[in-house]
Amino acid sequence: MARARSDLNCAAIPKWPGGKTYAIAVTHDTDAVSLGAAKELGANLAKFLIRRDRIFLDMFLSGVRYIGKPTENPFFGFPLWREFETSREFYSCFYLFAQVVPLKRDINNCKSSVVEQRIDWDILRRMAASGWEFGFHAPIDPENKLEAFVEGKRWIEKKLRTPIYGLRHHYWALDWSKPQATFRKHIDAGFRYDTSIAWKDIAGFRAATCHPFRPFDPEQDEPLDIYEIPTCLMDGHIIKNPDDVSSAVEEGLDVVRKVKEQGGVVVLDWHTETACNAYNYRNHLTVLRHILEPLMEDGDAWMATPWEIAQQWQLRSVELETGSITNLQL
Ligand SMILES: [Zn+2]
Repeated sequence: MARARSDLNCAAIPKWPGGKTYAIAVTHDTDAVSLGAAKELGANLAKFLIRRDRIFLDMFLSGVRYIGKPTENPFFGFPLWREFETSREFYSCFYLFAQVVPLKRDINNCKSSVVEQRIDWDILRRMAASGWEFGFHAPIDPENKLEAFVEGKRWIEKKLRTPIYGLRHHYWALDWSKPQATFRKHIDAGFRYDTSIAWKDIAGFRAATCHPFRPFDPEQDEPLDIYEIPTCLMDGHIIKNPDDVSSAVEEGLDVVRKVKEQGGVVVLDWHTETACNAYNYRNHLTVLRHILEPLMEDGDAWMATPWEIAQQWQLRSVELETGSITNLQL
């Protein structure tokens, strides 16, 4: 009897606040900060010479104009996102790439970041104070060193002058053979949630769920004290051909529809630098705009940052447990 009541209780406690039936979190991995950074210039010139694709020459030439002026360059997407999101009345989360401890070189790690580019931090600080969330975009590190998480978090917090709670791995590069080992380091570094579970090349549900969950640790035989909020929709997942906006939008909205049916969370990842909507990110912002348009009109959607979602899920877990205990005592 108690079990049956507990199940009923579970259904009676809403997942999301304010009568909303599903949640949407817009996030931005910050993989590139300045076209004028030496490594970006070198990479774009090399790509032009090897691939003979004019876009990379344009990026190189634009980069030359912005050498030493990162805050004005097209890849510095923060003010563009601020404008885009303010007019739609929601806040997003930026994961900042910060390699502050020595790590093994990896060609896929970022070539310009907020660490070595002399950006205007006041812009980011003001955004953090106004409601935008910031987190850590962890570098590729085959060992996933605890120190890299601890120092990356500390460095960003010091720069922003505010605590951060979440992270996402660049290239989704947590330890896929033993994810619990990486999650334990997240916890030890003080993170409260992660958003690194996703498919690499396609949209969808790698964890077979669109709900936050506590990853299970088979070694300790218990769930870990951190929330995973899986990412189901990234720019590169659906924008294969930037000129085919409608197919990308259709595919994106299909994912949103599936999440809405389940009452889960749509975690979108549009890279910070895609806000320029140009070069190799042509039409990226356009696609997102079309995906978000119907959602802005949808009274069922709760627009929130991942940290707000993690806190809501935690609150609901407590309510469920308290409710269960009350029922058991009846
Ligand atoms: Zn990345």
